[in-house]
Amino acid sequence: MGFRKKFEVEPGTKVRLSKIDASYTGKHDTHEKALPDVQANVERMCKLQYLLYADGNQSLLVVLQALDAAGKDGVIRHLFSGMNPQGTSVFGFKQPSKFEAAHDFLWRAHVRAPSKGEVVVFNRSHYEDVLVVRVHKLVPHSTWSKRYDLINDFETMLSRNGTTILKFFLHISPEEQLARFKQRLEDPSRHWKISESDYSERELWPQYVDAYEDAMALTSTKRAPWYIIPSNHKWFRNLAISQIIADTMDEMGLKVPPTHVDIAAIRRKYHVAELEQKHGGKRRAKEFAKVA
Ligand code: AMP
Ligand code: MG
Repeated sequence: MGFRKKFEVEPGTKVRLSKIDASYTGKHDTHEKALPDVQANVERMCKLQYLLYADGNQSLLVVLQALDAAGKDGVIRHLFSGMNPQGTSVFGFKQPSKFEAAHDFLWRAHVRAPSKGEVVVFNRSHYEDVLVVRVHKLVPHSTWSKRYDLINDFETMLSRNGTTILKFFLHISPEEQLARFKQRLEDPSRHWKISESDYSERELWPQYVDAYEDAMALTSTKRAPWYIIPSNHKWFRNLAISQIIADTMDEMGLKVPPTHVDIAAIRRKYHVAELEQKHGGKRRAKEFAKVA
Protein backbone atom coordinates (compact mmCIF):
# COMPACT_ATOMS: atom_id res chain seq x y z
CA MET A 1 0.00 0.00 0.00
CA GLY A 2 1.26 3.46 -0.84
CA PHE A 3 2.07 5.83 1.98
CA ARG A 4 -0.53 8.30 0.79
CA LYS A 5 -3.31 5.86 1.41
CA LYS A 6 -1.76 4.47 4.56
CA PHE A 7 -1.14 7.74 6.41
CA GLU A 8 -3.91 10.00 5.10
CA VAL A 9 -6.49 11.19 7.61
CA GLU A 10 -9.68 10.14 5.88
CA PRO A 11 -11.90 13.26 5.67
CA GLY A 12 -14.62 13.27 8.28
CA THR A 13 -13.06 10.65 10.54
CA LYS A 14 -11.89 10.92 14.13
CA VAL A 15 -8.18 10.91 14.88
CA ARG A 16 -6.73 8.93 17.77
CA LEU A 17 -2.99 9.52 17.94
CA SER A 18 -2.59 6.96 20.75
CA LYS A 19 -3.65 4.29 18.24
CA ILE A 20 -0.90 5.18 15.80
CA ASP A 21 2.55 3.68 16.36
CA ALA A 22 5.12 6.48 16.14
CA SER A 23 7.87 3.85 15.67
CA TYR A 24 6.25 2.22 12.62
CA THR A 25 8.66 1.45 9.79
CA GLY A 26 6.64 -1.02 7.69
CA LYS A 27 8.71 -3.38 5.58
CA HIS A 28 11.64 -1.02 5.57
CA ASP A 29 13.73 -2.15 8.49
CA THR A 30 16.90 -0.07 8.32
CA HIS A 31 18.11 3.35 7.41
CA GLU A 32 20.59 1.85 4.92
CA LYS A 33 17.88 -0.02 3.01
CA ALA A 34 15.60 3.03 2.88
CA LEU A 35 18.25 5.52 1.78
CA PRO A 36 18.24 4.73 -1.98
CA ASP A 37 14.43 5.07 -1.99
CA VAL A 38 14.60 8.42 -0.19
CA GLN A 39 17.21 9.60 -2.70
CA ALA A 40 15.10 8.47 -5.64
CA ASN A 41 12.06 10.32 -4.23
CA VAL A 42 14.07 13.48 -3.63
CA GLU A 43 15.34 13.34 -7.23
CA ARG A 44 11.76 12.98 -8.48
CA MET A 45 10.70 15.95 -6.34
CA CYS A 46 13.50 18.06 -7.83
CA LYS A 47 12.64 17.15 -11.42
CA LEU A 48 8.97 17.86 -10.81
CA GLN A 49 9.76 21.18 -9.13
CA TYR A 50 11.63 22.18 -12.28
CA LEU A 51 8.52 21.38 -14.32
CA LEU A 52 6.26 23.21 -11.85
CA TYR A 53 8.42 26.30 -12.20
CA ALA A 54 8.63 26.04 -15.99
CA ASP A 55 4.90 25.38 -16.30
CA GLY A 56 4.02 28.36 -14.07
CA ASN A 57 0.35 27.50 -13.71
CA GLN A 58 0.18 25.60 -10.45
CA SER A 59 1.84 25.66 -7.06
CA LEU A 60 2.56 23.41 -4.10
CA LEU A 61 2.14 24.21 -0.41
CA VAL A 62 3.62 21.80 2.13
CA VAL A 63 2.56 22.35 5.74
CA LEU A 64 4.72 20.84 8.51
CA GLN A 65 3.31 20.65 12.02
CA ALA A 66 4.55 18.78 15.08
CA LEU A 67 5.42 18.91 18.72
CA ASP A 68 8.93 20.07 19.61
CA ALA A 69 11.88 18.00 18.36
CA ALA A 70 9.76 15.90 15.99
CA GLY A 71 11.96 16.86 13.04
CA LYS A 72 10.36 19.61 10.97
CA ASP A 73 13.76 21.21 10.39
CA GLY A 74 15.25 17.84 9.43
CA VAL A 75 12.54 17.25 6.82
CA ILE A 76 13.27 20.62 5.25
CA ARG A 77 17.03 20.06 5.26
CA HIS A 78 16.92 16.51 3.90
CA LEU A 79 14.08 16.70 1.41
CA PHE A 80 14.05 20.23 0.04
CA SER A 81 17.72 21.15 -0.17
CA GLY A 82 17.98 19.77 -3.71
CA MET A 83 15.21 21.95 -5.11
CA ASN A 84 16.13 25.04 -7.09
CA PRO A 85 16.08 28.05 -4.72
CA GLN A 86 14.54 29.94 -7.62
CA GLY A 87 10.94 28.91 -7.12
CA THR A 88 11.19 27.37 -3.65
CA SER A 89 10.89 28.97 -0.23
CA VAL A 90 10.37 28.11 3.40
CA PHE A 91 8.54 30.25 5.90
CA GLY A 92 8.70 29.65 9.65
CA PHE A 93 5.71 30.78 11.70
CA LYS A 94 6.75 32.28 15.03
CA GLN A 95 4.69 34.09 17.60
CA PRO A 96 2.90 36.76 15.54
CA SER A 97 4.49 40.20 15.51
CA LYS A 98 2.39 43.17 16.59
CA PHE A 99 1.86 43.98 12.92
CA GLU A 100 0.78 40.42 12.08
CA ALA A 101 -1.46 40.18 15.14
CA ALA A 102 -3.28 43.32 14.03
CA HIS A 103 -4.65 41.37 11.04
CA ASP A 104 -6.93 38.34 10.85
CA PHE A 105 -5.13 35.08 11.69
CA LEU A 106 -4.97 33.91 8.07
CA TRP A 107 -3.43 37.10 6.73
CA ARG A 108 0.19 36.18 7.36
CA ALA A 109 -0.36 32.72 5.87
CA HIS A 110 -2.07 34.13 2.80
CA VAL A 111 0.76 36.52 1.93
CA ARG A 112 3.27 33.66 2.18
CA ALA A 113 1.21 31.18 0.16
CA PRO A 114 2.91 30.12 -3.08
CA SER A 115 2.42 32.08 -6.27
CA LYS A 116 2.05 30.16 -9.52
CA GLY A 117 5.10 28.03 -10.25
CA GLU A 118 6.32 28.04 -6.64
CA VAL A 119 6.85 25.45 -3.93
CA VAL A 120 6.42 26.84 -0.41
CA VAL A 121 7.02 24.98 2.84
CA PHE A 122 5.32 26.23 5.99
CA ASN A 123 7.41 25.35 9.05
CA ARG A 124 4.44 25.62 11.44
CA SER A 125 1.54 27.45 9.89
CA HIS A 126 -1.91 28.98 10.29
CA TYR A 127 -2.72 25.81 12.26
CA GLU A 128 -0.88 27.27 15.28
CA ASP A 129 -4.00 29.40 15.66
CA VAL A 130 -5.99 26.32 16.65
CA LEU A 131 -3.06 24.59 18.42
CA VAL A 132 -0.77 26.69 20.64
CA VAL A 133 -3.46 29.38 20.75
CA ARG A 134 -6.06 26.88 21.97
CA VAL A 135 -3.75 25.09 24.42
CA HIS A 136 -2.57 28.35 25.99
CA LYS A 137 -6.03 29.92 25.85
CA LEU A 138 -4.67 32.95 23.98
CA VAL A 139 -8.15 33.64 22.58
CA PRO A 140 -11.56 32.49 23.85
CA HIS A 141 -13.07 29.15 22.85
CA SER A 142 -15.71 30.97 20.80
CA THR A 143 -12.92 32.44 18.64
CA TRP A 144 -10.66 29.45 17.96
CA SER A 145 -13.57 27.04 17.52
CA LYS A 146 -14.75 29.00 14.46
CA ARG A 147 -11.34 28.87 12.84
CA TYR A 148 -11.59 25.31 11.46
CA ASP A 149 -14.28 26.37 8.98
CA LEU A 150 -12.30 29.49 8.11
CA ILE A 151 -9.20 27.36 7.49
CA ASN A 152 -11.17 25.00 5.24
CA ASP A 153 -12.55 27.91 3.24
CA PHE A 154 -9.06 29.45 2.95
CA GLU A 155 -7.53 26.20 1.74
CA THR A 156 -10.40 25.64 -0.71
CA MET A 157 -9.71 29.06 -2.17
CA LEU A 158 -5.98 28.34 -2.53
CA SER A 159 -6.72 24.99 -4.09
CA ARG A 160 -9.18 26.47 -6.60
CA ASN A 161 -6.46 28.91 -7.54
CA GLY A 162 -4.14 26.06 -8.53
CA THR A 163 -2.37 25.26 -5.26
CA THR A 164 -1.91 21.64 -4.26
CA ILE A 165 -1.81 21.42 -0.46
CA LEU A 166 -0.17 18.66 1.60
CA LYS A 167 -0.21 18.77 5.39
CA PHE A 168 2.07 16.60 7.50
CA PHE A 169 1.91 15.91 11.21
CA LEU A 170 5.20 14.43 12.42
CA HIS A 171 4.13 11.96 15.08
CA ILE A 172 6.68 11.17 17.81
CA SER A 173 6.26 9.58 21.22
CA PRO A 174 7.02 11.46 24.47
CA GLU A 175 9.91 9.01 25.07
CA GLU A 176 11.47 9.88 21.72
CA GLN A 177 11.07 13.59 22.41
CA LEU A 178 12.92 13.24 25.72
CA ALA A 179 15.69 11.24 24.03
CA ARG A 180 16.09 14.04 21.48
CA PHE A 181 16.11 16.70 24.22
CA LYS A 182 18.94 14.71 25.83
CA GLN A 183 20.92 14.64 22.57
CA ARG A 184 20.53 18.39 22.32
CA LEU A 185 21.81 18.84 25.87
CA GLU A 186 24.82 16.62 25.24
CA ASP A 187 25.82 18.24 21.96
CA PRO A 188 26.94 21.87 22.34
CA SER A 189 26.46 22.45 18.61
CA ARG A 190 22.75 21.83 19.16
CA HIS A 191 22.34 23.96 22.29
CA TRP A 192 20.88 26.77 20.20
CA LYS A 193 17.85 24.56 19.56
CA ILE A 194 17.01 24.30 23.26
CA SER A 195 14.19 26.55 24.35
CA GLU A 196 13.16 27.67 27.85
CA SER A 197 9.67 26.46 27.08
CA ASP A 198 10.59 22.91 25.96
CA TYR A 199 9.66 21.29 29.28
CA SER A 200 6.61 23.41 30.08
CA GLU A 201 5.25 22.64 26.60
CA ARG A 202 6.01 18.96 27.14
CA GLU A 203 3.80 19.00 30.22
CA LEU A 204 0.95 20.11 27.99
CA TRP A 205 1.35 17.04 25.76
CA PRO A 206 -2.21 15.72 26.34
CA GLN A 207 -3.72 19.12 25.58
CA TYR A 208 -1.67 19.35 22.38
CA VAL A 209 -2.77 15.84 21.39
CA ASP A 210 -6.43 16.89 21.81
CA ALA A 211 -5.86 20.04 19.78
CA TYR A 212 -4.05 18.16 17.00
CA GLU A 213 -6.65 15.42 16.87
CA ASP A 214 -9.45 17.95 16.47
CA ALA A 215 -7.55 20.05 13.95
CA MET A 216 -6.76 17.07 11.74
CA ALA A 217 -10.24 15.56 12.00
CA LEU A 218 -11.91 18.86 11.11
CA THR A 219 -9.59 20.04 8.34
CA SER A 220 -8.45 16.93 6.48
CA THR A 221 -10.13 17.26 3.10
CA LYS A 222 -9.65 15.73 -0.34
CA ARG A 223 -8.25 19.07 -1.52
CA ALA A 224 -5.93 19.51 1.46
CA PRO A 225 -5.32 16.20 3.23
CA TRP A 226 -3.49 15.66 6.50
CA TYR A 227 -0.97 12.85 6.75
CA ILE A 228 0.12 11.48 10.12
CA ILE A 229 3.73 10.38 9.69
CA PRO A 230 5.30 7.99 12.20
CA SER A 231 8.46 9.97 12.99
CA ASN A 232 10.35 8.24 15.80
CA HIS A 233 12.68 7.00 13.08
CA LYS A 234 13.98 9.98 11.14
CA TRP A 235 14.81 7.93 8.06
CA PHE A 236 11.30 6.48 7.87
CA ARG A 237 9.79 9.94 8.30
CA ASN A 238 11.92 11.17 5.37
CA LEU A 239 10.99 8.15 3.26
CA ALA A 240 7.23 8.52 3.81
CA ILE A 241 7.09 12.28 3.32
CA SER A 242 9.31 12.28 0.22
CA GLN A 243 7.24 9.53 -1.36
CA ILE A 244 3.93 11.30 -0.64
CA ILE A 245 5.21 14.59 -2.07
CA ALA A 246 6.74 12.98 -5.18
CA ASP A 247 3.64 10.84 -5.87
CA THR A 248 1.37 13.87 -5.47
CA MET A 249 3.50 16.06 -7.75
CA ASP A 250 3.53 13.23 -10.30
CA GLU A 251 -0.23 13.54 -10.56
CA MET A 252 -0.25 17.31 -11.06
CA GLY A 253 0.10 16.85 -14.82
CA LEU A 254 3.24 18.97 -14.97
CA LYS A 255 5.04 19.23 -18.27
CA VAL A 256 7.45 21.52 -20.04
CA PRO A 257 5.24 24.29 -21.43
CA PRO A 258 4.87 24.76 -25.20
CA THR A 259 6.96 27.54 -26.67
CA HIS A 260 5.40 30.84 -27.75
CA VAL A 261 7.98 31.53 -30.43
CA ASP A 262 8.38 30.26 -34.02
CA ILE A 263 11.24 27.81 -33.55
CA ALA A 264 11.93 27.51 -37.32
CA ALA A 265 12.30 31.30 -37.61
CA ILE A 266 14.52 31.44 -34.51
CA ARG A 267 16.64 28.63 -35.93
CA ARG A 268 17.21 30.67 -39.12
CA LYS A 269 18.24 33.68 -36.99
CA TYR A 270 20.64 31.44 -35.11
CA HIS A 271 22.28 30.24 -38.34
CA VAL A 272 22.72 33.82 -39.56
CA ALA A 273 24.31 34.74 -36.21
CA GLU A 274 26.55 31.70 -36.43
CA LEU A 275 27.69 32.61 -39.94
CA GLU A 276 28.34 36.19 -38.89
CA GLN A 277 30.40 35.03 -35.99
CA LYS A 278 32.46 32.80 -38.27
CA HIS A 279 33.01 35.28 -41.12
CA GLY A 280 32.18 38.64 -39.58
CA GLY A 281 35.48 38.66 -37.75
CA LYS A 282 37.39 38.48 -41.05
CA ARG A 283 35.30 41.25 -42.60
CA ARG A 284 35.94 43.50 -39.64
CA ALA A 285 39.63 42.68 -39.84
CA LYS A 286 39.70 43.83 -43.50
CA GLU A 287 37.89 47.07 -42.59
CA PHE A 288 40.39 47.75 -39.84
CA ALA A 289 43.22 47.10 -42.29
CA LYS A 290 41.77 49.75 -44.72
CA VAL A 291 41.48 52.42 -41.98
CA ALA A 292 45.02 51.79 -40.85
P1 AMP B 1 10.07 27.36 16.74
O1 AMP B 1 9.27 26.66 15.69
O2 AMP B 1 10.77 26.42 17.67
O3 AMP B 1 10.99 28.39 16.16
O4 AMP B 1 9.06 28.16 17.67
C1 AMP B 1 8.14 29.06 17.19
C2 AMP B 1 7.17 29.35 18.31
O5 AMP B 1 6.19 30.26 17.85
C3 AMP B 1 6.46 28.11 18.80
O6 AMP B 1 6.50 28.05 20.19
C4 AMP B 1 5.04 28.32 18.30
O7 AMP B 1 4.08 27.71 19.10
C5 AMP B 1 4.94 29.83 18.32
N1 AMP B 1 3.86 30.31 17.44
C6 AMP B 1 3.71 30.10 16.13
N2 AMP B 1 2.54 30.61 15.69
C7 AMP B 1 1.92 31.15 16.76
C8 AMP B 1 0.70 31.83 16.95
N3 AMP B 1 -0.15 32.04 15.95
N4 AMP B 1 0.40 32.26 18.20
C9 AMP B 1 1.26 32.03 19.22
N5 AMP B 1 2.44 31.40 19.11
C10 AMP B 1 2.77 30.96 17.89
MG1 MG C 1 11.02 24.86 19.15
